[in-house]
Amino acid sequence: MGELLLVLDEGTTSTRAMLFEASGKCLGSHAAELTQHYPGPGLVEHDANEIWRRTLECAIAMVDKAGGADRIAAIGITNQRETIVFWDKTTGEPLAPAIVWQDRRTAALCRKLRDAGEEPGVQARTGLLLDPYFSGTKIAWAMEHWPQLAAACDRLAIGTVESWLVWKLTGGLHISDATNASRTLLMGLGSGGWSDGLLDMFSAPRDALPEIVDCAGRFGTTRLFGGEIPICGLAGDQQSATIGQACFAKGETKATYGTGAFVLTNAGTTPPASKHRLLATVLWQLNGRRTYAIEGSVFVAGSLIQWLRDAVGLIETAPETEAIAKSVPDNGGVYLVPALSGLGAPWWEPDARAAISGLSFASTRAHIIRAALEAMAHQSHDLKTAFAADGADWARLRIDGGMVANDWMAQDLADVLAVPVDRPDFAETTALGAAMLAGVGCGLFSGLEEAAKMRGPAVTFEPKLDVGRRHARLAGWTQAVHSIVTPAKAGAHLPHEPQAKQ
Ligand code: ADP
Repeated sequence: MGELLLVLDEGTTSTRAMLFEASGKCLGSHAAELTQHYPGPGLVEHDANEIWRRTLECAIAMVDKAGGADRIAAIGITNQRETIVFWDKTTGEPLAPAIVWQDRRTAALCRKLRDAGEEPGVQARTGLLLDPYFSGTKIAWAMEHWPQLAAACDRLAIGTVESWLVWKLTGGLHISDATNASRTLLMGLGSGGWSDGLLDMFSAPRDALPEIVDCAGRFGTTRLFGGEIPICGLAGDQQSATIGQACFAKGETKATYGTGAFVLTNAGTTPPASKHRLLATVLWQLNGRRTYAIEGSVFVAGSLIQWLRDAVGLIETAPETEAIAKSVPDNGGVYLVPALSGLGAPWWEPDARAAISGLSFASTRAHIIRAALEAMAHQSHDLKTAFAADGADWARLRIDGGMVANDWMAQDLADVLAVPVDRPDFAETTALGAAMLAGVGCGLFSGLEEAAKMRGPAVTFEPKLDVGRRHARLAGWTQAVHSIVTPAKAGAHLPHEPQAKQ
């Protein structure tokens, strides 16, 4: 058996393959862009064949780098979640475009189901909310609007991206791991199986769906790389990053600051039930036993910096925000609420729009840029408050994603959240998590605890901000958010921290 681990990291905008040693050392990576198709307002599609071709191209580059298939012990796959693929079981060809997680075409259907009072039942069964984000309503829409799907009858296969890739790699194995399945709105969170009632609600034909499996195990073998390589690790990207951050004990939490921000707290082995509009999801399933997470997602994080650069022209590069934020002693009373595509958890206000408040003649470009970076800590604090209200407060936070290269922002997170913030030296935690699972699945590691050594060292940012300034920051933010959310939510929502005692 080989000793290297090959990870296929299937992002939204790119596909990557990475090669790891069992020590965690990364030996190389190869990435390819994915075409984003926007056929209309709110519509986002991928070409599943392109995902497959790019994956193959990247994987071949890494198998070559490894020196051949026999050097590779196992493949781990981690992927953009919720994106749904439709294909023909006999030809292995897509029958329709893949509908991407960002796609909003089912907003009206979600509203209809919510108005019909379905959300509490759906949330109780799946841990999710009725939002177009999840796959269930996308399947319902596709079955209604793309007649070729129903016409395919028992030739139809439906699956998330890891499911599609396993099919292609193995030539016909139809599986999905429990983390990905838990994002479809079709899986019972407690049972770990497809729920008949939910399949009916979303017109999902059971025969088209994959078998739900663990995150680690010997699932199947690919022979496409000049030798046999077993596929041994599968997880959705955020769950994989949580594993890559070694959040193995209840209460351990990671936050990824990429295009958006995603926070997951290990919630143990009992399915959690959020009362504060957070999501409950499977963190991993091993030997048929599930560990769960509470999840909060913020839609706009790094994309705010990109917007300041590309649409507003306030900066030339993302990294320069660090020096600019430091160039002023504080935000000068300026707050930026980055609701550029509505507000995510815990507000769930799709129609809210962004605001910059507190401007005066004394405000400068530096104040606005600082306010943009500060918004990351403020949004995270709103999430922390909701997590705490659900009984899952964070004692420390493990961070990753492209934005956390910014030291100023990492320190600001520690200051505003008032907890230590750990940033691993090796930031590719999503790929690392899939490598850990693949290592467990093929027997290189006895379990996740042993795989944790792949994570390596981290630097810690300790909170330093004095309590008065911290409370003033939070009070200013709360006021700014309340100016853009509906009054009922502003009044009745979260138990925010007390106002500053001046
Ligand atoms: P994704 O995986 O979602 O594509 P990444 O994790 O690669 O995103 O993070 C990229 C994002 O991080 C970009 O939106 C970029 O604006 C932001 N970013 C990168 N470097 C910095 C920095 N030094 N300071 C602030 N933001 C940054």
